[in-house]
Amino acid sequence: MIVPEYGLNDIVEMKKEHPCKTRSKIFKITRMGADIKIQCEGCGSIAMMPRSSFEKRLKRVIEHHEVEGK
Ligand SMILES: [Zn+2]
Repeated sequence: MIVPEYGLNDIVEMKKEHPCKTRSKIFKITRMGADIKIQCEGCGSIAMMPRSSFEKRLKRVIEHHEVEGK
């Protein structure tokens, strides 16, 4: 499986919906590191998971922001 390029503030779609009332699959990446923090676009709650789990759950990147000057 090819993992798409992703970065801070990107909007991503996960394979499973967030178990909140909005059932949103759309999340925003709010922290990049050994652990990835994603924020549910439906309810605004934040989930943190290791990068490997994140990549397994990631379905696609909806909005990718190019990081400049890096
Ligand atoms: Zn949610």
